[in-house]
Amino acid sequence: MAFELPELPYAYDALKESIDTRTMKIHHTKHHQGYTNKLNAAIEGTDLEKLSIVDLMKKAGSNPGVRNNGGGYYNHSLFWKIMSPEGGGAPKGKMAKLIKDNFGTFDKFKEAFAKAAGTRFGSGWAWLAVKRSGKLFITSTPNQDNPLMDCAENKGIPILGLDVWEHAYYLKYQNKRPDYVANFFNVVNWSQVSRNYSAAMAPKTKKKATKKKK
Ligand code: MN
Repeated sequence: MAFELPELPYAYDALKESIDTRTMKIHHTKHHQGYTNKLNAAIEGTDLEKLSIVDLMKKAGSNPGVRNNGGGYYNHSLFWKIMSPEGGGAPKGKMAKLIKDNFGTFDKFKEAFAKAAGTRFGSGWAWLAVKRSGKLFITSTPNQDNPLMDCAENKGIPILGLDVWEHAYYLKYQNKRPDYVANFFNVVNWSQVSRNYSAAMAPKTKKKATKKKK
């Protein structure tokens, strides 16, 4: 089954204090749509068609079409959801504790994340991701790579991602990537990040165990 471009969970102008309307529209309808179409073309008629987007990421290293376009599909699908016009501020509850336990304070986390986003040379992404142990870590990846990929240097499950390609911010910010990163924190949907963490830590469905039942 072909992948479809997910709808944005808000209007194109909903985040305009942080990301302008025109950028949002072009980013979603042209860039994300482009990755979606090219991913579908890359897997059409192959065994890869049966795989989920997460399982495709585990094969990205040996398939440039899946790496670039499947990465683009997955990354943007996550990116839209972890932003909200009601977002921003500091995380609450479980997520606040996780940030504190892993990074000391929320400000230290923001500083480290902004550094990862600011120092990624050229195009790529900054991530907050989780190891199987539950440990949170910050990393960045080039191009459309992500920490799920078999070829990632630092592997884990992404729960928050920031697109630092110039197409994500250039119309409003030009060369001022740090300003874009700072304003991104005003729209982060921490409730969704928390749900992403819970999903990442949920036990995997045990297909083999189910089969053994008589
Ligand atoms: Mn992008």
